[in-house]
Amino acid sequence: MTTFSARTLSDAATQIDRRAIDELARDLSRPLVLPDSPDYDEARRVFNKMIDKRPALIVRCGGVPDVLCAVRFARAHELLVAVRGGAHNAAGFATCDGGIVIDLSPMRGIRIDVESRLVRAEGGATWGDVDRETQAFGLVAVGGIVSTTGVAGLTLGGGQGWFRRTFGMTCDNLVSADVVTADGRLLSVSETAHSDLFWALKGGGGNFGIVTSFEFRLHQVGPMVAFAGPVYPVEKARTILGRFRDFALDAPDEVNVNAVLWSIPGGSTFPQHLHGREVLIISGTYAGAPERGHEFLRPLREFDEPILDMSATIPYCALQQLFDPFFARASSFTIGRRFTSIASPTTSLKQVWAAAPRGPLKGLCLQSRRWAAPWAESARRRRRSEAGPRPSSSKSSGVGPNRRTPSRTWSGCVTSSKRCTGSRRARQT
Ligand SMILES: Cc1cc2nc3c(=O)[nH]c(=O)nc-3n(C[C@H](O)[C@H](O)[C@H](O)COP(=O)(O)OP(=O)(O)OC[C@H]3O[C@@H](n4cnc5c(N)ncnc54)[C@H](O)[C@@H]3O)c2cc1C
Repeated sequence: MTTFSARTLSDAATQIDRRAIDELARDLSRPLVLPDSPDYDEARRVFNKMIDKRPALIVRCGGVPDVLCAVRFARAHELLVAVRGGAHNAAGFATCDGGIVIDLSPMRGIRIDVESRLVRAEGGATWGDVDRETQAFGLVAVGGIVSTTGVAGLTLGGGQGWFRRTFGMTCDNLVSADVVTADGRLLSVSETAHSDLFWALKGGGGNFGIVTSFEFRLHQVGPMVAFAGPVYPVEKARTILGRFRDFALDAPDEVNVNAVLWSIPGGSTFPQHLHGREVLIISGTYAGAPERGHEFLRPLREFDEPILDMSATIPYCALQQLFDPFFARASSFTIGRRFTSIASPTTSLKQVWAAAPRGPLKGLCLQSRRWAAPWAESARRRRRSEAGPRPSSSKSSGVGPNRRTPSRTWSGCVTSSKRCTGSRRARQT
């Protein structure tokens, strides 16, 4: 009898009868990927090239039945499981060594209900998929700021994008989801059905089940939006970030801004004289008419003399793809990230920037988290839930439209990269 080696949830080695593997392969709508499959190396690769894991099996799911099959198989053999959406997770949670990868990336269907302003995205869709469909109707879902990021991991982690201040976090806009649970059932969850599981999906991470589709509320923005993008010398960061902070605290809810410390890599689309320079990029957009947006955003461009000004009226889809070239999947750079909470961008920023590993590309993104009503309340609720278990009496709804206690915190994320050379061992920061 031929057997097949894999690893269990408790990290023990296990042998699976080859006939069980063949049976699984027969039940799936797409070829099962095994270590000796010609496309194994392509199928196991995730976005962060520092991650180099070798799963025993990769199930590329074409639909819900494939997900159910994979979960039941994993359960029967007590296998270590990793679920893959857009595969952008920097720590490489979308893959594993020796276990089974349940890969939803072929499931990228999008369905829009224009009248009800709702969109349903399958569990392997990217934000680019969603934007393309929703913008055909001048509507947006609140996703991330890089279009290749997966809808699934971003939403399950909370998710914030350009319009976070205006419309809240991605999970605030989640209306319902279809989930395959660990016991192999398909549940439709919402505020009114399996509400505890729904609550957990809204920012609780990827461990509560496999979400096969997400339903989001849509908002009217686009097709053209105002974008402000002045670039300042990094030497002036301290003064400009002070002005940026004051601007962000007083700006109306429709204005959304980021400040990014960035080292511009050679060969990028930036003008050549900026290659290799460290800069401060201020970026802003407005959820409304572009002309009015430019009026509100003008102060960002007048903090000092910009060395480059990328401001323009651009299509919403272009705004969503502005940063894509820095994070191209096919590029040869790798990513390490450090998350930090920064009480004031002018105090600890220097240390954070200095601590980022050196490489041809390094970036620090600061995002204002002063939420617009009613999102201030839901953000506070989320912080409470991160601090401890949910009180039994609390519910996941109850966001009052007149509650307005803006959070004045900032969040920062350092991204650094280095070229892939000989060693491909993961170095997670
Ligand atoms: C270039 C880049 C840009 C980013 N920009 C933003 C941004 O603008 N805003 C923001 O909030 N975050 C952003 N992020 C962070 C991003 O949200 C997370 O990395 C997120 O985990 C990516 O989701 P994914 O589906 O692509 O990832 P994956 O690596 O596929 O999955 C991430 C986690 O979710 C689980 N998971 C995946 N699919 C499912 C599913 N269908 N059901 C259940 N669990 C699942 C995985 O097992 C894993 O634990 C960015 C990351 C990168 C690398």
